[in-house]
Amino acid sequence: MPLTFPHFGSLKHVFVSLFHELGRYDLVIPNKPSKKTFQLGSRYSPEFVCTPFKLTLGTFIESLERGADELGMGGGHGYCRFRFYWQVQKIILEDLGYDCKWIRIDYESTRDMLQVMKSISVGLNTLQTIRAFQIGWVKNRLTDLTDQLLFKYRAIEIEKGSSERIANEVFELIVSTRKMSKIRKLRKTIPKMFAENVEVDKKANPLKVVVNGEIYVVLEPALNLDIYKRLNGLGVITKTPVTLRRFIDVGQRLNPFKKMDFQIANSYGTKYVPYRVGGETQENLGDAILYKKKGWDGLIHLYPFTCMPEIIARSIFPQVSRENDMPVLSLVVDEHTGEAGFQTRLEAFVDLLESKRERKLKKSKSKIARH
Ligand code: SF4
Repeated sequence: MPLTFPHFGSLKHVFVSLFHELGRYDLVIPNKPSKKTFQLGSRYSPEFVCTPFKLTLGTFIESLERGADELGMGGGHGYCRFRFYWQVQKIILEDLGYDCKWIRIDYESTRDMLQVMKSISVGLNTLQTIRAFQIGWVKNRLTDLTDQLLFKYRAIEIEKGSSERIANEVFELIVSTRKMSKIRKLRKTIPKMFAENVEVDKKANPLKVVVNGEIYVVLEPALNLDIYKRLNGLGVITKTPVTLRRFIDVGQRLNPFKKMDFQIANSYGTKYVPYRVGGETQENLGDAILYKKKGWDGLIHLYPFTCMPEIIARSIFPQVSRENDMPVLSLVVDEHTGEAGFQTRLEAFVDLLESKRERKLKKSKSKIARH
């Protein structure tokens, strides 16, 4: 029964590692979604469903055509439409004549995740399943670290493409490393690989822009039009606090001495939206405050067309931006988003941040001169 799952940015490497640890090598690894994937998904989806539904449906159809017949998908007791994705996709795929088994993983419940993993493993006991899961979340820390380094080095690299080349080597290393003791050592090896192999412009003074929003659009380059690469191409360092680790990194979630960024941002965001309304609304709003405090220059908020929770965030962002002097650009994306218009908006935002920084610099210089 070849198993597949949605394409999800660099998380693909975490999923492959996790399934390998469960003894599942019969994988159909999803291809990076293309225009055709979008077309397939849109053709068979309800018109006004949110865009990640269409893209994941299109990916499933492509993987089924490549021989998959077991589909792994998140779902369960979440707060918005995502929890119903798999049921609706199941009906659509059955109508299209596909006969497949569904593995529904409730990412909000550690217990459910463990039960499902055990049931799809090749006979692992509970302890072995916990071990496999732990390898998954530790590797997710490493893929997050790799993305973070890539989004930094690529903005200031001298030889174009060198950071991406190292990032690809690192991802391969993450997947192929199996022993926990060796996996843990990668935390030091990965930054070294970037530092030793990517020559950077030491005189550069790049702007720093944080990107957040709905998790799928933020993490899947096919849907976010490779926004990190575009910003890096404009000489801007970027990062995202949005991560799947907020659900699966049990080690950090249970650590009373360490708060994850989303927990801090959430505490700021509840001032504007006191209750969880789905998606990442509260954390996204709170990020504008958190990253202002950390000295970042601006924030880009991404959300897919018809995404309910992020439309709420989008309408509150102007107030958060004003009150905290943090420039925010909200961008909505779907299968019709044009690259040229998207690029122009990014360039205009970066210009705005640049002139804001220059104004600030002039002001502080004239202050010093007056004293
Ligand atoms: S968060 Fe937005 S895009 Fe994601 S399932 Fe909910 S409504 Fe759809």
